[in-house]
Amino acid sequence: MDFRYRLMRFLSGRYGADRLFFVIFAVSAVLSVANIFIRSIILQCVVYALMLYAIFRVFSRNTAQRSREDAWVFEKLGFIKRKKELHERRKNDKCHIYKKCPSCKAILRLPRRIGVHKTVCPKCGKEFTVRVRK
Ligand SMILES: [Zn+2]
Repeated sequence: MDFRYRLMRFLSGRYGADRLFFVIFAVSAVLSVANIFIRSIILQCVVYALMLYAIFRVFSRNTAQRSREDAWVFEKLGFIKRKKELHERRKNDKCHIYKKCPSCKAILRLPRRIGVHKTVCPKCGKEFTVRVRK
């Protein structure tokens, strides 16, 4: 009873586990498994550092800062997800092709017409040829 009370007092106001905790935990677990084969002391130190950081975050009382870290990381991970969705949408678009302008690197959405065509980049005005196979 006394122990439970003391544990509750210790844990109150602590940040606890969030999404970032599980990401850090998963990464350190994967690295730990990889290190069985690699056997690197540096990688082992990285794994310990990640685990210590995850534990530090769980018991931290600075909840606002921990919450900001979580939001920041998932904003960055959201970028990967958005990129994947964009790729998926382009793959499913049967009426258009997506080509990168060779001079300004802008992505152009062009009608899918088989053959070799000349096109003008609307962004930089450079003319270049596009080959559409199927
Ligand atoms: Zn261009």
